[in-house]
Amino acid sequence: YSVMPTSFSHVFDTPVYQGKTSFPTGVFINGQFRDGSEDTTIDVINPTNGSTITKVPEATAKDVDIAVEAAQKAFETVWGLNRPGSERSRLMIKLASAMEACADELAALDALDNGKTFNWAKAIDVPFAIELIRYYAGWADKIHGQVMETTEGKLTYTRHEPIGVVGQIIPWNYPLMMMCMKIGPALATGNCVVLKPSEFTPLSALRMCSLLKEVGFPPGVVNVLVGYGHTVGNAISTHNGIEKVAFTGSTLTGRKVMEAAAKSNLKNVTLELGGKSPNVIFNDADLEQAVNWSFWGIFWNHGQACIAGSRIFVQSGIYDKFLEKFTEKTKTIKMGDPFAADTYQGPQVSNIQHDRITGYIKSGKEQGATVHYGGEPYSGEGYFVNPTIFVDAKPDMKIMQEEIFGPVCCVVKFEDEDDVIRQANDTIYGLAAAVFSKNIDRALSVAHKLKAGSIWVNSYSHISVNAPFGGFKQSGIGREFGEEALHNYVNVKSVHVNLGLAVPEV
Ligand code: NAD
Repeated sequence: YSVMPTSFSHVFDTPVYQGKTSFPTGVFINGQFRDGSEDTTIDVINPTNGSTITKVPEATAKDVDIAVEAAQKAFETVWGLNRPGSERSRLMIKLASAMEACADELAALDALDNGKTFNWAKAIDVPFAIELIRYYAGWADKIHGQVMETTEGKLTYTRHEPIGVVGQIIPWNYPLMMMCMKIGPALATGNCVVLKPSEFTPLSALRMCSLLKEVGFPPGVVNVLVGYGHTVGNAISTHNGIEKVAFTGSTLTGRKVMEAAAKSNLKNVTLELGGKSPNVIFNDADLEQAVNWSFWGIFWNHGQACIAGSRIFVQSGIYDKFLEKFTEKTKTIKMGDPFAADTYQGPQVSNIQHDRITGYIKSGKEQGATVHYGGEPYSGEGYFVNPTIFVDAKPDMKIMQEEIFGPVCCVVKFEDEDDVIRQANDTIYGLAAAVFSKNIDRALSVAHKLKAGSIWVNSYSHISVNAPFGGFKQSGIGREFGEEALHNYVNVKSVHVNLGLAVPEV
C-alpha cells in the first residue's frame, strides 16, 4: 500500500513535500509493512473538505497478537538487556537526524490528516518531536539503580530493568509529537513497543516506520498498528503479553483502558487525559502579555489541546480592557487551507469533533451564557468552527465544566483571590493552569494553590521536554516528559547479597 493523496495535490508538487507523492504504509510488524489480518482498510479523511486522502490497512486484535509476539522476540534477543544503552542511544540519535532530514514532509503529513497548519507543525510539532527523541537518547545510557547502605555483611543494590513489551495508545491532536513522547522514554529504557496511532491521523506515524527501519532499529522493537479503539486499543489494554500500557486521550476512554488493564493481567497503567484549564489574570498583570499568551493558550492547534486555557478568569479592574484587546486579536484569526502561509486556523480534525464543539456552543447559549464573539456556524465546506468567546458563563454550565476541545473559551470576571482559586479548582480536571501577575508573591502563592500538574506564571502552554507533565485529579495518572517519564518504563528490582551473615537468631 502507498499513500497516494488525491486532494492537496498542489502540496505534493511543491518543495514542501520534497517532490514525493507516495510512501509505504501498512500494519507495521517486525519491521515489515503488511496487510491487516482481516484485509480491511481505513479511510484517511482530509478535514478541510471531507474527501478521502488515502486508505491504509486496518489492524485488528489478531494483529496485536502477532505484534506482541514479534516484540517479545525482539526484546529477548536484540533489545532490552541485550543491547547496551549507548547503542540504543546511537539509534535514537540517528532517528532524530532522519526526522530532521524530512521535517517538512512530516509537518505536511500532520497538516494533511489533522488539519493543523503546516507552518505551526513545522515550527512547533516537528522540532519538539525531534527534541523528544534526542532528549531521551541522552538518557538511554544513564539508566541505573543505586547501591543501598545496609548492614555490614550485606550488599543491596537496585536495577532498573525494562518492563518488556509496552502498549501505547495515542490521540490525533499532535500525531507526531504524541508518538515521540511515547516511544522516546520506552526505547531509552530498553522496552519494545506496540503503538496504536489515532485512526484519524495515521500518516506521520506510518512515515516514521520507514525512518525507524532506515536508521537500523531491529525488527519488532517498534510495531505500529493503525486501527480502531474498540478493536486494537482494547486488544492492547487486555493483552496478557503486554505488561504496561501508556494511554493519552479522553478521560472516558482512559477509564476503559484502566478497567481493561485491571481485568486482564493487572498491567501497569499511565494515563494522560483531558483538561479544563483555568487561566487567572490579576489587575497587575502585563496586559499585552496576558492577552497574547491567553490567545495562544486557547487558539493554538484550534483549541484541540488537552492543556487549552478554556476558562479565562480576569480581575475586574482590567476585565473590560482585556476583553476588548483579546477580542480584537481573536478577530485577526484567518481560517482556511492549512497549507496557506497566512492561515492561523485550519479545520477541526473530524466531523465528529466539529459536531461536538458546535453542540457545546449551542449548550452555552441555551444555558444562558452570552456569545461575545463568534458562535455562528461556519458557512463553507470542511470541519471548521468559528473561534468563539463566551461571557456571563456560570460555574455549573457545561461550557465551564466539560472539555470542549475546540476554539471556544469563557472569559469570566472575578474580584477576589480566594474566590478565583476556588472557581479555578472547581472541575474534575487538573491538568494545567496559569497565573498572570507582576507581583511575584501573589503569582507563586496562587500557583501553589492551583490543583494542576503544570502551572505557567505569566505565560501559557509553554511546555519543555525536560519538565514533568501530567494531571492531578481525573486528568491522569503518572507523568510524561523529563526524567519522570523513565520511571513509567522500568521495573525496579532490589538485589540483596549476603556476604556471609548467618540467619538471625530470635
Ligand atoms: P479518545 O479517548 O477518543 O481516543 C484516544 C485514543 O484511544 C485513540 O487512539 C482511540 O482510537 C483510542 N481508543 C478509543 N477507544 C478505546 C478503547 N475502548 N480502548 C483503547 N483505546 C481506545 O481521545 P481523542 O478524541 O483521540 O483525543 C482527545 C482527548 O485526548 C481529549 O480529551 C484530550 O484532552 C486528550 N488528550 C490528553 C493529553 C494529555 O497529555 N493529558 C494530550 C492530548 C490529548
